[in-house]
Amino acid sequence: MPGSRDTLRAIMFNPSQADVRRFFCGVRAKMISGAPMEAIETLASLWIDEHPEYFDELSDMDAAVARNYDSEPERTNPFLHLSMHLSISEQCSVDSPRGIRQAVELLAKKRDLHDAHHAAMECLGQMLWESQRSGRPPDGEAYVAGVQRLATTDGSFKSTP
Ligand SMILES: [Zn+2]
Repeated sequence: MPGSRDTLRAIMFNPSQADVRRFFCGVRAKMISGAPMEAIETLASLWIDEHPEYFDELSDMDAAVARNYDSEPERTNPFLHLSMHLSISEQCSVDSPRGIRQAVELLAKKRDLHDAHHAAMECLGQMLWESQRSGRPPDGEAYVAGVQRLATTDGSFKSTP
């Protein structure tokens, strides 16, 4: 449905904006109340469920919208983190960039899916950082290659719990 598409686009391209924070807080509220969810909300709820440490922050929408995570670099931005989980889920479901689905599945055999996502996130962040630094479009192939490398070698990446 187009509403979900728009939500997903906002999550993937403007993960820090207020609408995205309201979206995740809204999903958390629905998880508590048991209200029906759209497909994208159900997916988001599965990832929220994996992060009980975020429950408190997601339960106060006004505070969540107002918070400036840039001024607290030591603090994980749960909205950015959850947005990246949704982005990677979407990338795997449509296999774009090509090969990402297989690479994440391969990695998930070595770790669990959540850990595989966290490792893929490092590679995704690297791709976005390189793109910003060089002014070139994001290099999807390098991103997939990075995830494949983690899946096929022991690698030094350690996920934080
Ligand atoms: Zn996570």
